[in-house]
Amino acid sequence: MAKASSKPNETILVTGGAGFIGSQTCKMLAQEGLVPVTLDNLTTGHREDVKWGPLVVGDVNDHACLARLMRQYQPTAVIHFAAVTAVGESVTDPGKYYRNNVSGSLSLLEAMRDFGIKDLVFSSSAAVYGNPMRSPIPEDHVVVPINPYGSTKLMMERIMSDFAAAHGLRFVALRYFNAAGSDPGGEIGERHDPETHLIPLVLDAALGRRANVTVFGNDYPTLDGTCIRDYIHVADLADAHLRALAYLREGGHEQAFNLGTGQGYSVKEVIAGVQRVTGRKVPHVVGERRAGDPPELVADPLRAKRLLDWTPKHSSLDTIINHAWAFRKKI
Ligand code: UDP
Repeated sequence: MAKASSKPNETILVTGGAGFIGSQTCKMLAQEGLVPVTLDNLTTGHREDVKWGPLVVGDVNDHACLARLMRQYQPTAVIHFAAVTAVGESVTDPGKYYRNNVSGSLSLLEAMRDFGIKDLVFSSSAAVYGNPMRSPIPEDHVVVPINPYGSTKLMMERIMSDFAAAHGLRFVALRYFNAAGSDPGGEIGERHDPETHLIPLVLDAALGRRANVTVFGNDYPTLDGTCIRDYIHVADLADAHLRALAYLREGGHEQAFNLGTGQGYSVKEVIAGVQRVTGRKVPHVVGERRAGDPPELVADPLRAKRLLDWTPKHSSLDTIINHAWAFRKKI
C-alpha cells in the first residue's frame, strides 16, 4: 500500500474518532506514523477509546469549534465518521438524522473549504442502495434509499460531488456493509447503548446477559427466510480508510467504494456461527420484521480490490465472531 503520510507528525482530523470504526481507524493511523485528532461529541463515542491522539469534545455542527481545531492542529485531511447510524430510529426521528448527518457534514465541508483542506474520506453506507435489484451489489447499482439514514448518506455523496466541482474537494465515499468484529489486539470494540446490532446481541444471549435474541422476521425471500447481510471486520474497514487516503493523495478521483466481503450470511447462520464458535447455546425467538430492512445486502467489492488493493483479512464469519466474543466477555 502507498503510504498515507509523508511528513512527520502530520495530523488527520477524525470526526467520530471515539466510535467503533473511528477508534479502530485512529489506532491504524497512529501505527502508520500519523497523528489522529479526534472530534467527537461523545453522545455515542467513548472517551476511553481515544488513545492514539488528542480528543476535542465538540460537534461538527459547531463552526467555531471546527475553526479552532483547524487552527490549532492544521490537519492535512479529514476522515469523517461522526453520524447517527440507527436505521430504525431514522424512521421515527428523521430530523435528528438530517441535522446530524447532513447539516453537520455540510458544516464540516465548509470548514474544509475555508481552511483549504482538500482530502476527505467519508463514511457512507450500503443503505444508499435501498432494496437492491441485484446481489452482489456493484457501486453503479441504482441508489434509492428506503430509510432516512440511507437518504442522509446519499445526499452527502451528492453534496461532496458538488463541492468537488466548485471547490476542488477530493473525496471518496466508503459504503460500509455490516461493520462487525472487534480490534484484533483487544484494546477497543463495539459497544452501543442501547445495543441494536445483531452480533453483540447474539453474544449477550450466549452469555446469558439477555434471555434471548429476537430474529426479525423469518418470511423473507431468502433460503432460510431470514435477512442476509455481508459482515465486514472493523479492522478491515479501518485498513480501507488508510488505503482510501493514500489513493486520494496519489490523485485518485472521487468515487464510491463498497466495503464488504461479497459473502452474505443469514441471521440464522450468524446464530449458528456463534453457537459453533463459543460452544454456547443461543436462545432465540422469531419476531416481526423490522421496518426498513431489505432482505439481502451483499457487496460486490471488486472496485476496492482493484483500485485500493484492499482485501479483507479478518472477515471470515468465525474470525469476526471470535474477536467480537473476546471483547464482549470483557465488558
Ligand atoms: N437483526 C435481528 N435481530 C436483532 C437485531 C438485528 O434479527 O435483534 C437482524 C436485522 O433485521 C438485520 C441483521 O440482523 O437483518 C443485521 O442487523 P443489524 O442491526 O446488526 O445491522 P443493519 O443491517 O441494520 O446495519
